[in-house]
Amino acid sequence: MARVVVVGAGLGGLAAAARLAALGHAVTVVEQGPRAGGKLGWFSRDGHSFDTGPSLVTLPQVYRDLFTATGGRLEDALDLVRLDPAVGYRFADGTRLTVPGRPDAVPAALDDALGAGAGRQWSALMDRAAAMWRISEDPFLRTPLAGAATLARLARRPRDVATVAPWQSLRGLGRRYLAHPHLRTLLDRYATYSGSDPRRAPAVLATVPYAEQAFGSWYVRGGLHRLGLAVLDRAVAHGAVLRTGSPVRRVLVENGRAAGVELADGERLRADVVVSGVDATALHTDLLPGEPRTRGVRRALGRTTPSLSGFVLLLALRGRTPGLDHHTVLFPDDYDAEFDAVFGTGRYAGRPGPVPDPTVYVSAPDDPALVPDDDSESWFVLVNAPRHDPAAGMDWDAPGLAAGYADRVLEVMARRGLDVRGRLRRREIRTPADLARDTGSVGGSIYGTSSNGSRAAFLRPANASPVPGLFLVGGSAHPGGGLPLVGLSAEIVAGLVGPA
Ligand SMILES: Cc1cc2nc3c(=O)[nH]c(=O)nc-3n(C[C@H](O)[C@H](O)[C@H](O)COP(=O)(O)OP(=O)(O)OC[C@H]3O[C@@H](n4cnc5c(N)ncnc54)[C@H](O)[C@@H]3O)c2cc1C
Repeated sequence: MARVVVVGAGLGGLAAAARLAALGHAVTVVEQGPRAGGKLGWFSRDGHSFDTGPSLVTLPQVYRDLFTATGGRLEDALDLVRLDPAVGYRFADGTRLTVPGRPDAVPAALDDALGAGAGRQWSALMDRAAAMWRISEDPFLRTPLAGAATLARLARRPRDVATVAPWQSLRGLGRRYLAHPHLRTLLDRYATYSGSDPRRAPAVLATVPYAEQAFGSWYVRGGLHRLGLAVLDRAVAHGAVLRTGSPVRRVLVENGRAAGVELADGERLRADVVVSGVDATALHTDLLPGEPRTRGVRRALGRTTPSLSGFVLLLALRGRTPGLDHHTVLFPDDYDAEFDAVFGTGRYAGRPGPVPDPTVYVSAPDDPALVPDDDSESWFVLVNAPRHDPAAGMDWDAPGLAAGYADRVLEVMARRGLDVRGRLRRREIRTPADLARDTGSVGGSIYGTSSNGSRAAFLRPANASPVPGLFLVGGSAHPGGGLPLVGLSAEIVAGLVGPA
């Protein structure tokens, strides 16, 4: 039995803790904040409640596997609902598209909304994406990253390489398969699921809409934050201990291997294994400063583009919105201007800033647990945003900026047909700076490093650190961000540490 300290009680840390505790290790989870969950957060006031982070579960099988490995059934712990329709899209020219939650119904819905042939184009793309998924799921998503060896393994079969087309961008793939501009916009949006720019993210991200449609879009009744609590329960059931309000200031390295952690108040927790669930950039710059073995990791991180962040509004509304889908996306006229503003490229070169005319994502669960009465709604509104980086000129704490931008987002929504300004009981604003403070993710990046660039997936830190005894889980390590991948990182780490 090893003594394991897990740093950070985000979903990655919790999932690793549950799996390692179930394998017989003595696990302590240390969390800087007042409660577990990390980005999978929750806010409640005056009867209105909100998930403050994720609003969509994909690949729930990852968490079914975790429950099976830790002696339970996911469905006994959570009320998971497959959404149908999955999402409603509204385009700038007024076109509306409701995407069904069952893949076989998608082509007809596309034909209805966008004209005959749209469904066929999308299906051809999804066939290619299914092939990409089959090639990449086991050898990449479920396997530890091993630098050149991983590349060599993936490159062994030229046919597979041609299918994955590592040289092609997601935008390029869309151009090849999709003639309708709205379909291209739809595909582009999936780059943002990993915090990336479709013009620079690899074509293999087409597996994201494939997985979403093939395996469903899911909601957790009562709020997605319950997933974090359910995973925490699994860990505690196997004897893991959670210590909140305990920021780690240093990972201890002794005799060439991880030996525990030092908390901000000076207390030292000795361990045989340290699992870091904190932002990998923060780990390597703040908690392991100057560690010579991780120089290569720091260098690789320096060559990546951090993921985009998000500007969030939590809207407590009086009254109900007829015909509103659970998830709604309001697209702008010029999607590229959004990516340029967020990443400081093109016409915003070197000057990232809030997107003047952003895509607006609204999650409005029809769930009595989230509202004070049945004549109310609790909306989570998310807009892609540049990271908080005052040194580079993007300071989300600048006086008046957040409130002014919230007004702007509400005005954009009104222009696109969702005017709720007269129904507001309260609005709560969460900027990238708030996300950085609350979760320790540098600049408030949602997904660690982005997938911008064909080598991005291989520059993300591996789950086994070069420091023996130190492992990385969570959205900024391999295989990447988002609830399912974070769960897979925990599965990989549990496999690397092994049973007690
Ligand atoms: C607004 C938003 C919307 C999202 N939407 C979706 C979605 O719809 N679907 C989806 O799949 N994913 C979504 N995501 C992404 C998803 O939330 C993350 O990928 C995932 O929750 C990350 O989990 P994690 O454990 O890697 O990191 P985190 O949740 O960031 O956990 C890290 C934890 O470490 C703690 N910590 C940091 N530093 C220290 C320290 N020094 N000492 C101790 N503790 C420390 C933090 O407080 C935090 O609790 C969204 C994220 C956000 C922010």
